[in-house]
Amino acid sequence: TDDSRPQFLSSQNAEFLINSVDAFLFDCDGVIWKGDTLIDGVPETLEMLRSKGKKLVFVTNNSTKSRKQYAKKFQTFGISVNEEEIFSSSFAAAAYLKSINFPKEKKVYVIGEEGILEELELVGYTCLGGPEDGNKRIQLNSNFFFEHDKDVGAVVVGLDQYINYYKLQYGTLCIRENSGCLFIATNRDAIGHLTSQEWPGAGTMVAAICGSTQKEPIVVGKPSTFMMDFLLERFQIDTPKMCMVGDRLDTDILFGKNAGCKTLLVFSGVTTTSDLQGPTNSIQPDYYTSTVSDLMQSRLT
Ligand code: PLP
Ligand code: CA
Repeated sequence: TDDSRPQFLSSQNAEFLINSVDAFLFDCDGVIWKGDTLIDGVPETLEMLRSKGKKLVFVTNNSTKSRKQYAKKFQTFGISVNEEEIFSSSFAAAAYLKSINFPKEKKVYVIGEEGILEELELVGYTCLGGPEDGNKRIQLNSNFFFEHDKDVGAVVVGLDQYINYYKLQYGTLCIRENSGCLFIATNRDAIGHLTSQEWPGAGTMVAAICGSTQKEPIVVGKPSTFMMDFLLERFQIDTPKMCMVGDRLDTDILFGKNAGCKTLLVFSGVTTTSDLQGPTNSIQPDYYTSTVSDLMQSRLT
């Protein structure tokens, strides 16, 4: 058999995988829950892994919530998770700015929701923008001049269900006219699963700003290495002793593989078995299975 081909997570493989790693990194949507619905068997699986002394980390690209808000979400599902175990792309944006010593005197313009504002304010940054900003149509006429704050040194873009033309203009002017202004994207997912349907993801807002500025953002969420760097700083574990579990090849599995983690693809989210078998797919997980609860099989062997 070809070792580089993904293997089905048989009970033997599940046992081997669990024994060979110290930490599991879980993507959230499509792995732990789908929108507001918990995926079957998740609490029991997490409990089993904890009882074996495994570290658990939750890594989500959805920037609309802060770590604190995610901890509450876990709690509503009866799962007890510490804020320190959560790495959201909203947190990654704040952690990134902190890591580069982005000056506190400068401001951050946010095209995004509460989660980003909360994480940035926790670090001590002054935010402009956010969900409420510019919710009226701008009355454009020849006397109108759009003013923006020259102290904005970074524009952070994530999913914004309140996106409007005012915000696009504001973010664009900061990036184009404020010297050295950073353009940061929480993530570039094209699609978000806000409900059982598909919705435009953060990548849509990011693409709008790419279009108007002709610039590329610094991406802090999966699959970028920033998130992994923060994670490794907090948990001193060698990446070969970590397993990334996710439902997407181009974010989760790539994120894990880039860092040298073991990878497990689950089909409880967006990827189908035929996506995996497609000849053009260059990103391949080590293992695949239907849901995380298949890790429980190892108890039987
Ligand atoms: N961003 C948005 C807006 C989403 O709705 C989702 C999933 O539904 C994601 C990102 C991806 O989140 P995760 O990384 O937890 O799969
Ligand atoms: Ca996912």
